[in-house]
Amino acid sequence: MNYKIALIRGDGIGPEVVGEAVKVLEQVGKKFGHTFTNTDVPIGGCAIDAVGKSYPDGTAEACKACDAVLLGAVGGPKWGHSTDPEKRPETALLSIRKDLGLYANLRPAALRPALADACPLKKETADKGIDLMMVRELTGGIYFGQKERYQTEDRGEEASDRMAYSEKEIERIGRRAFELARLRRKKVASVDKANVLETSRLWRQVMHRLAEEYSDVEYEDVLVDNAAMQLVRDPSQFDVIVTENLFGDILSDEASQITGSIGMLPSASLGDGTRGLYEPIHGSAPDIAGQDKANPIGMILAAAMMLRYSLDMPAEADAVEAAVNTALESGLRTGDILEPGKTAVGCAGMGQAIAANL
Ligand code: NAD
Repeated sequence: MNYKIALIRGDGIGPEVVGEAVKVLEQVGKKFGHTFTNTDVPIGGCAIDAVGKSYPDGTAEACKACDAVLLGAVGGPKWGHSTDPEKRPETALLSIRKDLGLYANLRPAALRPALADACPLKKETADKGIDLMMVRELTGGIYFGQKERYQTEDRGEEASDRMAYSEKEIERIGRRAFELARLRRKKVASVDKANVLETSRLWRQVMHRLAEEYSDVEYEDVLVDNAAMQLVRDPSQFDVIVTENLFGDILSDEASQITGSIGMLPSASLGDGTRGLYEPIHGSAPDIAGQDKANPIGMILAAAMMLRYSLDMPAEADAVEAAVNTALESGLRTGDILEPGKTAVGCAGMGQAIAANL
């Protein structure tokens, strides 16, 4: 089979880490008999330099013509000052998610045995293992609600952000979470603030309806403050965590920190069909760009998620994840995960080793 992949290499370390993911996919193709045809789609700072805007015309169409999108990272200090949205790299990220209808953000957080020492939690907590999937609603809630600023008579200036969720928005993200749980350990924890927020009470009502439908999946409600605490007290209790946009933004960063380096973690953004956008959770890391120092593992694991969720290739995804584990178990480390006294391998060396392990 031939699969079409849109490659958004982006800025900073983006092109370096995407290059390593491409190497690994080529090896997957050879081993399993697939062909991947790549189309470069420039967005972000490099697009501002080339055509004057971060999200060039035709970007969405180019991505929609592909089976999946791999994205390195966009942005950097060079483009950080413009007030014109067309000349801001992050505009491109919001636009592409919207245009591709990507409302579910999946972020796995797993502690790899070879990196157990990088976990900042107590050893007895880390020893219980961490393997959870954070499912965050990505296109609704307070980030997209009406924003206002106005002058009051007696309280000075006032600002407000509206938080709204519809049953339909909650149900589609909830279904994603239950379906994912069925492929994992069959547990869903739904995080809300139903003791205070009306949006959370509607969220809970819809989730309870789904929990009845998916009666083979164990379900619990967790208040967001408790979830933040449980993630550092005993993350091993969680399988799939589903939550709204703002809570998910904060909790997914917390979950990523308890597993060690930012360079290790992938994410996927999905909509209704199979097409998805896959990227590492880190940014463009301008401080190490162009020096062959970036850890490509987050990007390579994002490519593994693409194989699993967009291209229906679970065996190929398992093989890539196993190849990453083998590289780590053999002692290979990029600078960000290096133990004192050891020598680091570069971005290209790590990618090469993972491809060779396949
Ligand atoms: P960052 O993730 O780029 O870097 C934070 C720190 O982590 C840096 O010290 C960096 O060197 C290190 N780091 C990140 N990825 C690494 C990797 N793969 N290997 C080794 N070390 C790594 O975050 P930042 O510094 O806040 O942002 C830099 C730029 O990236 C900004 O312009 C920001 O807007 C952009 N950004 C883009 C995305 C995206 O494209 N999705 C996400 C976050 C930030």
